[in-house]
Amino acid sequence: MAKKYNFFAGPAILPQEVMKKAQAELLDFNGIGLSIMEISHRSKDFEAVINGAETKIRTLLGVPENFSVMFLQGGASLQFGMIPMNLLIGKKADYVNTGAWAKKAIKEAKLFGMVNVAASSEDKNFSYIPETFNFTADAQYVHITSNETIGGVQWMNFPETNSVPLIIDMSSDIFSRKIDFKNIGMIYAGAQKNIGPAGATLVIMRNDLVEACADGLTTMLSYKTHAKEKSMYNTPPCFIIYIIKLVMEWIESHGGLAGIEKINNEKAKTLYDAIDGSNGYFKGTAALKDRSKMNVTFRLPSEELEEKFINEAKKAGFIGLKGHRSVGGCRASLYNAMSLEGVSELTQFMKKFAAENK
Ligand SMILES: *Cc1c(COP(=O)(O)O)cnc(C)c1O
Repeated sequence: MAKKYNFFAGPAILPQEVMKKAQAELLDFNGIGLSIMEISHRSKDFEAVINGAETKIRTLLGVPENFSVMFLQGGASLQFGMIPMNLLIGKKADYVNTGAWAKKAIKEAKLFGMVNVAASSEDKNFSYIPETFNFTADAQYVHITSNETIGGVQWMNFPETNSVPLIIDMSSDIFSRKIDFKNIGMIYAGAQKNIGPAGATLVIMRNDLVEACADGLTTMLSYKTHAKEKSMYNTPPCFIIYIIKLVMEWIESHGGLAGIEKINNEKAKTLYDAIDGSNGYFKGTAALKDRSKMNVTFRLPSEELEEKFINEAKKAGFIGLKGHRSVGGCRASLYNAMSLEGVSELTQFMKKFAAENK
């Protein structure tokens, strides 16, 4: 098999080591003679998997004791609705509108409560992260999207919210860098960008917010249910949780988040340097200060050249460089499992392409 470099935005690249380990023990997990996919979620063997995944998540991220960790389903998109359903009915919340994902979260929140858009970057096509906010004093929470996967902008620092809890959609940059839980009330992420295959959503929620959730909701859409039952009210996405545990072990073996963050910084610098050093042939679309280290968005001199670039890159083994269908252009996603070598190879290819396609 020829070497391929996977730059898809999601579902996305997973560490080869993780997939090989999963392959090796796919038919016989722990020597029990059965696959992890075909055993009870109440069995001792699976219990060790889900508890192990949670412990590693807590250690790697530095999750404080007073937070619950939950493995849910329905993607990050279900969280857009579950958050306001649980916390906002008849109340107010602040949302920062930084792009396509923030917008979807806002749309759902409006179904349940009063939404104040505290800042928006829509005026410049979501190419930057706002720096001034019109926060409401009595908001239940402030919602932000730490990394806009489509627009390629990322919060370098989270906003000061005067003890109003921050709720953060971290779908595309969770576990890519260290985070400070100081102002955080909840973070959530679909698994398929940085922590595993599609099918699980990681939710980490402060217990006082769990307590504050509305009563009388349908059981499966209530955070109280999942926090109380430790994600085992019903059958959890067992196989995905198993892979998440392997990915956490992989992160651990790469120096934890400090090690991962260092490599991610080098990868992003390598690609942005290539873009900035191309004499304007490649142009980054995000404001310099807010450039995402996970999703690098850029354009070529024309749409025809972009199409040619994406096709030739694919032939050369660089897969998934097409920008999101809503914005066009090119996007290279540099999630944790992408190696520095892969990014360097891509920049070599870009240089060659630019020279040959003036
Ligand atoms: C991919 C993505 C989502 C949507 O996730 P689903 O799991 O497909 O619902 C939401 N927010 C961000 C920032 C994303 O990157």
